[in-house]
Amino acid sequence: MDTTDPTERHRKRMQRKKAVVDAAIARADRDQGLLLVLTGNGKGKSSSAFGMVARALGHGMKVGVAQFVKGRQDTGEEAFFRRQPGVVWHVLGEGFTWETQNLERDRATAQKGREVVRGMLADESLGLVVLDELTYPLKYGWLDLDQVLADLEARPSMQHVVITGRGAPQALIDAADTVTELRDVKHAFRAGVRAQKGVDL
Ligand code: ATP
Ligand code: MG
Repeated sequence: MDTTDPTERHRKRMQRKKAVVDAAIARADRDQGLLLVLTGNGKGKSSSAFGMVARALGHGMKVGVAQFVKGRQDTGEEAFFRRQPGVVWHVLGEGFTWETQNLERDRATAQKGREVVRGMLADESLGLVVLDELTYPLKYGWLDLDQVLADLEARPSMQHVVITGRGAPQALIDAADTVTELRDVKHAFRAGVRAQKGVDL
């Protein structure tokens, strides 16, 4: 039977744990621009990306945001972040193709999208770039995956990039440093609740 004093036992266990954590922290001694991918069917991809926008602005960094599939014009993030100094905000989608039903316009939007992505990934002044819902133009072939991967590879070494959207292609996941797949456990929409301000938009 272990007769050691429980307080002492707890202290020793925590001491061992601290040694492990401290060693892991000491090992992570590099700085670099990161590529993050937030994918999966669960809610929280774009809102997580905008959380990082707030963090970056809090540190005085400049941020570029490109939104590729823009179903609505009344989101809280756009209203808030667009008026912050240090934010460059582009809206590149006009909703899904089945909503615009206009191939010419889709092509023009795609062209503008390519230019904006290339421009932001070449801009040294941007510490964080968010490519929100980028997976859809990749899927529809508006943007060429190999080209985007090449632009990501060639970006400034300290620039962080966050890409969101369902169904991220494997090559993008392979190229990323941090990947999170959000899993849909339940969503209020399926119980009949419409999108709520402050939560969904
Ligand atoms: P959010 O912007 O809230 O972080 P998201 O970026 O993860 O969501 P999208 O696929 O871009 O998800 O969808 C955006 C909108 O659809 C939001 O209003 C969100 O609440 C809603 N939504 C996200 N996931 C689901 C889901 N699994 N079922 C129903 N609605 C969803
Ligand atoms: Mg989203």
